[in-house]
Amino acid sequence: MKYYLLFGPPGAGKGTQAKLLVDKYNLRHVSTGDLLRKEISNKTELGLVAKALIDNGNLVDDSIVEKMIENEIDGNPDAVGFLFDGFPRTVAQAEALDALLAKRGESLDKVISIIIDDSLVFERIAHRAAIENRKDDSNPEIIENRIKTYHQKTEPLIRYYKERGKYFEIDGSGAIEDIFKKISELI
Ligand code: ADP
Repeated sequence: MKYYLLFGPPGAGKGTQAKLLVDKYNLRHVSTGDLLRKEISNKTELGLVAKALIDNGNLVDDSIVEKMIENEIDGNPDAVGFLFDGFPRTVAQAEALDALLAKRGESLDKVISIIIDDSLVFERIAHRAAIENRKDDSNPEIIENRIKTYHQKTEPLIRYYKERGKYFEIDGSGAIEDIFKKISELI
């Protein structure tokens, strides 16, 4: 089983690239953001808790998303491989993922990091707000908070994965096709 991880700040284009990659490589796309938004639209108890956090640009509790990932892996034993998108977002989540895979005698193959500047994050999210109608995309203060959260809690993962020799970085400011080509070379 192959395990790839798409990493990067909000708006870096992870979701866009993930769609192209799953079509090409038949991987199972696991976006914790999408899974959480599904809980919200189904009005589950978990969705209610998640909504308050997401709408303000804060992270959902580690234990919640870790459980979601475990369910996805357990529930898809026939998958060729997995492409995680938006997970892990904290060092604790990365450690949990490593432990989860180690328990199965497996490990993460590569972390593919799509990096863009904070100014481009703003531009991209403003553009997406006009298309996707996400509450967390529509308010500049909330976007600021997501960028801050990324730098504080998620960016330390770069070092975590570099130390483990799994980190591969791509400039996310170019054309979708060019980025896709570079990622394909890594996979
Ligand atoms: P983006 O990449 O634009 O930030 P996502 O769809 O990946 O969008 O995430 C939307 C929101 O869902 C995040 O801001 C956060 O509140 C929540 N979320 C998604 N994944 C995680 C995670 N792994 N840990 C905690 N919260 C998460």
